[in-house]
Amino acid sequence: MGKVWFVGAGPGAPDLITVRGTRLLASAGAILYTGSLVAETVLEWAAEGCEIADSKTMELTQVTDWLLTRAARHQTVVRLQTGDPTLYGVVAELARPLDAVGIEVGIVPGVSSAMASAAAAGECLTLPEVTQTVIFTRLAGRTAMPQAEALADLAKHHCTLCIFLSIERIATVAETLTEAGWTPEARVVVVHKATWPGEELVLRGRLRDIAGRCADAGIVRQAMILVGPALGARQRPAGVTSKLYDAGFERRFRGKGWRG
Ligand code: SAH
Repeated sequence: MGKVWFVGAGPGAPDLITVRGTRLLASAGAILYTGSLVAETVLEWAAEGCEIADSKTMELTQVTDWLLTRAARHQTVVRLQTGDPTLYGVVAELARPLDAVGIEVGIVPGVSSAMASAAAAGECLTLPEVTQTVIFTRLAGRTAMPQAEALADLAKHHCTLCIFLSIERIATVAETLTEAGWTPEARVVVVHKATWPGEELVLRGRLRDIAGRCADAGIVRQAMILVGPALGARQRPAGVTSKLYDAGFERRFRGKGWRG
C-alpha cells in the first residue's frame, strides 16, 4: 500500500507550490487534481507515465475510490488541491476512508488564496495596535454555518476577515458588516484569481460601494474578500490608524476634525 499526500498547489501561479509539493508530484505514480491552473502545475512536474486525472466531475466517494485504488498500485499518490488543503478542502472527509483501511496520509501545506490575495493587493492582514487577529470565514452556502459563527457575530471583533466562497453575495457581506456597526467607509479589497498569470484583478472599495464595483467589473466567482482595519495602512500616515473608520471613534471624535 502506498501513501496518499494531500498537497497544496497554491493559489494559481504554477511557481507558488512548495518545493516539497513539487518533489511529491515528481515522484507520484498517480495524481488527482482539481482546478484548471492546478493542472498546469501538475503537467510541469509530473513524471512520465504518471496516472493523472481531474476530479472536476467526481463525487466525494469517487475521489476516495480513486485514491484507494491508486494507493494499492503506487507508492506515492497525490491529491492536489488549490491553496492550502486544510482550508475548505474536505481533507477530513477524503482521508477518513483511507484511515479506515490503514493507508498512510500526509498533508503538505500550500499558499492559501487569503495570503496570495493580501500579497497581490500589497496589504497586510495585521497591523500593530490596530488588529492582531485574522478570521478565515465564509457565508453559508450549501454548507451551513455553525450558529456561533454568523458573520454579524464575527464582525464584533473588528479584526481582519478573509471571506472565502462568498463573492456572489458580496452585497450581503457589506450589509451584514454595516448593520453590525462597521462604518460604511471601511475598506474592502476583493481579489479575483490572485496570482493567476494575466488574470489577477484587485478591486478596492468601501463597504458602501464594493458590491457595485464587483458588479461593474463582472466579478462573480473565484475571488477573495478582505475587509478590516489593517487595510489601506500604507496609504495612511504612520500613527494614523483606521480606528478613525470605526463608527464608535467617529462618534467620539468627529467634532475634532479628524478624517481617516
Ligand atoms: N483551500 C483554498 C480555498 C478553497 S475554497 C485556499 O486555501 O485558498 C475556494 C475559495 O477560495 C474561492 O471561493 C475563493 O474565495 C478562494 N480562492 C481560491 N483561489 C483563489 C484565487 N486565486 N484568488 C482569489 N480567491 C481564491
